Amino acid sequence: MSGPVMRIDLDAIEENARTIVGFCAEHGIEVTGVTKVTCGMPAVARALIRGGVTAIGESRLENIHRMRADGITTPFWLLRIPPLSAVDEIVTSVNVSLNSEMGVIRGLSAAAQERDLVHDIILMVDLGDLREGIWPDDLMTVVGEVRDLPGVRLRGLGTNLTCYGGVLPTRKNMNRLVAYQKAVEDAFGIRLDILSGGNSSSLDLLRRDGIPSEVNNLRLGESLMLGLETANQTLWPGARRDAFILGAELIEVKKKPSVPVGETGLDAFGEKPVFRDKGPMIRGILNIGREDVKTNGLTPLDDKVEVIGSSSDHLLVDLTSVTVPRKVGDEVSFLPDYGALLAAMTSSYVRKEPHRSGAPLEKRGLSIAVFGETSSDIADILTEDLISLEAVTDVVRVSDTDDVSEFSGLILCCGPDGSLPGLLAKSPAATGPLGLIWFTQTPELSPLLETFMQPEIFTPENTILIGLREAGPKTMGLIESRGIGVKTMEDIDLLGLRQVMRSALEKASSGTGGVILRYDAAVTDGGNEGLTKRETYLAMELAARSGVLRGMDISGSLPVVNADDAAALRRYVGTAFGKKILNHWAK
Ligand SMILES: *Cc1c(COP(=O)(O)O)cnc(C)c1O
Repeated sequence: MSGPVMRIDLDAIEENARTIVGFCAEHGIEVTGVTKVTCGMPAVARALIRGGVTAIGESRLENIHRMRADGITTPFWLLRIPPLSAVDEIVTSVNVSLNSEMGVIRGLSAAAQERDLVHDIILMVDLGDLREGIWPDDLMTVVGEVRDLPGVRLRGLGTNLTCYGGVLPTRKNMNRLVAYQKAVEDAFGIRLDILSGGNSSSLDLLRRDGIPSEVNNLRLGESLMLGLETANQTLWPGARRDAFILGAELIEVKKKPSVPVGETGLDAFGEKPVFRDKGPMIRGILNIGREDVKTNGLTPLDDKVEVIGSSSDHLLVDLTSVTVPRKVGDEVSFLPDYGALLAAMTSSYVRKEPHRSGAPLEKRGLSIAVFGETSSDIADILTEDLISLEAVTDVVRVSDTDDVSEFSGLILCCGPDGSLPGLLAKSPAATGPLGLIWFTQTPELSPLLETFMQPEIFTPENTILIGLREAGPKTMGLIESRGIGVKTMEDIDLLGLRQVMRSALEKASSGTGGVILRYDAAVTDGGNEGLTKRETYLAMELAARSGVLRGMDISGSLPVVNADDAAALRRYVGTAFGKKILNHWAK
């Protein structure tokens, strides 16, 4: 695949969250983790949640819907003050919204009341930054009105600084916020349980001067993503700046002058370019431009590389001083600033590749647990088969899910059907959610599919069903509402199995702790309406070669009634666990 790529290190994001959430916790502050710069990427939200944030903040409803559909159940805060036209959507999909307009709050109240819901709101107070917020003079009137409305519950006050006016959080304006909270509490005889003191620009104040102890929440985005406190744009101690790395490919590398030849006018963007004559230089052109990213927000990872200009589709770099010569086809990597990150994450031209650096799936001597009932012949036979494989160092046969609680190798699940999620829940092998590639032709997969979709086990975002010809209404509903991937037999006919499997592995492994391959034997029917045997082998081999396989589930293929089917199943399993197709099956 060509084009620029944004590599997202989920473990670095988790680490940043853990570091900063821990620091805030020492000061009695909970953190709402803000995902908006990633367009609400569910894998990023999960990393933040693992790192300890207590809520997810988003500015866009579409992003909240995506994360909810992906099974994230943490409370969601809507950060951008809501439009009147979306009040119905908000009360049904958002737990807390930040507000400053009485008309909208009335709308939220009516919408919530109609559905017998209670919607939590935080009133934003403008301390002078002049973006959103109630002007302090009007605060008491607004609170009085809100208190009388059914369907909405006033949870607290908040403020946002350093956004429009660049007003920094200080001890003084934080004290003002605290004073407003006290005034409201005293005047109305109520307790406000949230005082949300700002964004990543508050961290520096918290560390230098302290923030009044009444402030008990911060809404943090940039600091968790890029490791930067934003009052001075400095790296937070212990945080990582490299969670997001943008890569682009060199499409031209040539020695040329550093100053254009001929009379110069305006460039493609109507600006008058200025050049410094540095003599001949090695100039590189990368396949990324202003259509993909904010090019002046990129810092080359290699400090010998210098960005010298950009157009819609090109980024020009000076490669004269690099230590190792770069050639066409090489990748050059950059750290994006917040604006560049936002643009790249929003651009459909930039591929997003989440991964987990802390949990590499290194190739190693495989250790496999074969799970099946005590009396399962096929589980016994497969255990024997797997022991004979070259890559396998040890195989344990287990019949109780508890037996895998200390086992961190691969898993082969031989039933009962549907036991896999419970098995994985017990196994330390499943660190964070896994991807699921499911070969099947069963039209109605729910409720089984539903039991598989558990946030800590399998996420819809990383699940792909391969081989379907039709889907029953319940399954269709599940696929559509949760965003589960599907590759039909038609896709396989059009694209070929290799291509289908490759994109399935990419989707299933992106941001997960590995992939489980589920194989329902009925999908292989000699190519009548399903897969041929050759295609099935190829699928297994591609899975084996991917290096991301964490296990296999064949419980939907059991019991096997005839000897030929059993022999085929044994070969498929052997192939998935690393036996080459061409080698004849031993024994
Ligand atoms: C974006 C946003 C934040 C997070 O800001 P960062 O500087 O990324 O920490 C917090 N609050 C509101 C209202 C926001 O819109």
